Amino acid sequence: MRCLRDLLQKAQQSGVAIGHFNISDLVLVKAVFAAARELNVPVLVGLSEGEREFVGTRQIAAFVRSLREEFDFPIFLNADHTHSLAKGIEAAKAGFDSIVFDLSALPIEENVRQTKQAVEALKAINPSMLVEGEIGDIGTGSEIHESSPDLSKGLSTPEEAKQFVESTRVDILAPAVGNMHGMLRSMVQGETKKRLDIERIAGIKRAARVFLTLHGGSGTDDEDLRKAIAAGINIVHINTELRVAWRHGLEHGLAKQPDEVVPYKILPSVVDSVKQVVGSRLKLFNGRHVGHGA
Ligand SMILES: [Zn+2]
Repeated sequence: MRCLRDLLQKAQQSGVAIGHFNISDLVLVKAVFAAARELNVPVLVGLSEGEREFVGTRQIAAFVRSLREEFDFPIFLNADHTHSLAKGIEAAKAGFDSIVFDLSALPIEENVRQTKQAVEALKAINPSMLVEGEIGDIGTGSEIHESSPDLSKGLSTPEEAKQFVESTRVDILAPAVGNMHGMLRSMVQGETKKRLDIERIAGIKRAARVFLTLHGGSGTDDEDLRKAIAAGINIVHINTELRVAWRHGLEHGLAKQPDEVVPYKILPSVVDSVKQVVGSRLKLFNGRHVGHGA
């Protein structure tokens, strides 16, 4: 089995990106894994601090490792949006493959200082763990928002990206390039799309020379995602689209069988609904044709 760093390198050379999907229950893991296996592409599952608290940090690590080993399949585990070194150490000890160490809410000097410390501490526990740092402002909460925050002030610049990467020695950088966490209601309805600053991504890639992650990919224009990957994005995060599909699938499953109480008879509707979204996104990230209605 190749490690995550090798797979990112390979994806970069092939001009494709690895899909990252947030999970907070077994149904979501099943859906992500099934979609990735069907397309035979590597995949990352991620859990934020809140998601880890619900599922269990060591428990999800054991579960994902069991899938990777039993099926000899490149499924990797990311500790998404980790705000303290203590939580990072917990994930590193549990065997997570990567971590998003997110102090982007702090002033940049403090973000640099603490991220640098975290890189050293986490690599001391697991030298092959990839550490991602965050700069700029892309909002919080993978939920449905009523209004859009003003993202223009928090956009990352190539100079800032270069300086941050050189000072902290992170493996991966998450810049603010027009992306945002969560979706507006109009995006859920498909009426509007997020747009990305492709030139900014290309400039940051040239300056920072590390793997780049696009957070808040849900509801982004397909063509912008293709261009962003061509410009240097290596990992794309999708969370809200899965949460919406999870809820719709559950509502559908319950409505279809109003008297059913057996979870494994109701929940396949949720797996199907989520799997469809994951499959469609994975096709796009991996340069495969995405059909109508996908
Ligand atoms: Zn994120």
